[in-house]
Amino acid sequence: MVILGIDIGGSQLRAGMVDENGAILASRAIPTPSDMESFQPQFHDAIRWLLEATALPAGVGVGCKGVIDPDTTRIELLPGALHYLEGLRLADLVGLPMDVPVFADNDARVALAGEMVWGAARDLRNVLMITLGSGVGGAAMVDGKLLRGHSGMAGMLGHLTVEPDGARCFCGNRGCLETVFSARAIEGEAWAAVRRGCVSSLTRLFSEQPQLASCRTVFQAASEGDALAAEILARATGKLAGALAGLLHVFDPEVVILGGQVANAGAALLEPLRRQVWERSRGLLGRDTPIVEQTVADKTGIVGAAGLVMATR
Ligand SMILES: [Zn+2]
Repeated sequence: MVILGIDIGGSQLRAGMVDENGAILASRAIPTPSDMESFQPQFHDAIRWLLEATALPAGVGVGCKGVIDPDTTRIELLPGALHYLEGLRLADLVGLPMDVPVFADNDARVALAGEMVWGAARDLRNVLMITLGSGVGGAAMVDGKLLRGHSGMAGMLGHLTVEPDGARCFCGNRGCLETVFSARAIEGEAWAAVRRGCVSSLTRLFSEQPQLASCRTVFQAASEGDALAAEILARATGKLAGALAGLLHVFDPEVVILGGQVANAGAALLEPLRRQVWERSRGLLGRDTPIVEQTVADKTGIVGAAGLVMATR
C-alpha cells in the first residue's frame, strides 16, 4: 500500500509516496507557486510524476498552514503568501479520482498524526505536540482523538497567553507564547541587545548587521559561555516551561513531543525545560511527564501527512 503525503508550505510544496512503514518511496519538491494560475498546473505535474513513478495511492494526506476544515478539506484561513488558496477544498486541488480519500489538516496536527502512527505517540491516548519554529504550533490528542474544537482552532498552543500585557501578536492578542519563545522571538531579543551595544560575543559578531544573528547562533553563543545569550535563552525557556506546566495541568498527557527547528538544540533546551516543567507540575500530577523530541524525523512534512491518512482511516 502507498499513501500520497503532501506538505503545502510557505516556501516549498512537497509531495511524496509513503509506504505503510513510513518510508518515502519517491518525492518531489517545488517552490511554492506565487498565484493560483501557476499553482494548479505545477501541483498537478508533481502529483502526475509521482503516480507514474509508483501507483495510485490508497489515500492522500495533506498538511497545510492555517485553519483547515478536516471534514470538507476546505482551507478556512490562510494568511500570508498562500492566501489565494483560502476558501478552496484541498480534495479538489489534488484532483485524483473520487474513490481515493483525501484527508487534510494543519501542519502541527499532521506532525502529531505522524507521531501517532510511527513515532513517540504510538499506542498512547493523551499527547501534546508543540512545534518550535519561527512561530509556535501545537496539537493535542485527547483520549485517543486529535482535538479539533468547535471551529478547528483547538491546540494552537503558540497562542496561549503567557504575558497578558506583553507584546502584540499578529493574531490580535498580547503576549502569546510565540511572542516570547520562538526562533523569531529569541532573534528579536538578540537583535535588540546587539543594537544597544550590550557586552556579548553576539554584539562583536553582528554589530554591523544585527539581523544576521539567528536563533541557532544564540544557542551557539550560550554554549560557548556568553552570558547575554544564556540570559536570553533562560528567560525564554522559563516562559515556555511555565506555559507547558499549565498545559500539563489542563491536558494531563502521557508525553509531550517537541518538534520544529528550535527543538534541534537538543539537551541545551530539553534539560532546563524538563527540570522547570517537572518542578512546576510534579505536585499536582504526582509524576514527571516525559518531554521528548519528535521521532519521525520528517523535515519534509510528507511522512506526517501520510500518517494523517493512517490515523484517520
Ligand atoms: Zn497570538
